[in-house]
Amino acid sequence: MATLSHLLAGRKRESYVWTFFEYSAEKDKSVCIVKNKDGEEYGKEMKGKNTSNLKTHLSRFHEGEYERLTEEEQKLKKEKGKAAAEDWSCFKPKEPPRLSGKHAGQSETVAV
Ligand SMILES: [Zn+2]
Repeated sequence: MATLSHLLAGRKRESYVWTFFEYSAEKDKSVCIVKNKDGEEYGKEMKGKNTSNLKTHLSRFHEGEYERLTEEEQKLKKEKGKAAAEDWSCFKPKEPPRLSGKHAGQSETVAV
């Protein structure tokens, strides 16, 4: 039986967006590590690790990186689509698959 931490350890960063940001759990902040030519916006901190916020930042300030991200995500989707063609997870593109959800409901019986 795989434990949650085991699954998490074996799992790479869930999004390519983390190529451009670093998350500090200590501060609960994501820091932009994209270096513009003139150093503009480098080190921008955003609260939490909401990838859509991070993507918005990229799309606003780092167009080139945002394009790369979009490309990489599409590639990833294709790869995942092949591997998990029979998996329903492809219908939930915004959220990473829940680790405990699949089996959680099955054994749930109402005690009367
Ligand atoms: Zn930035």
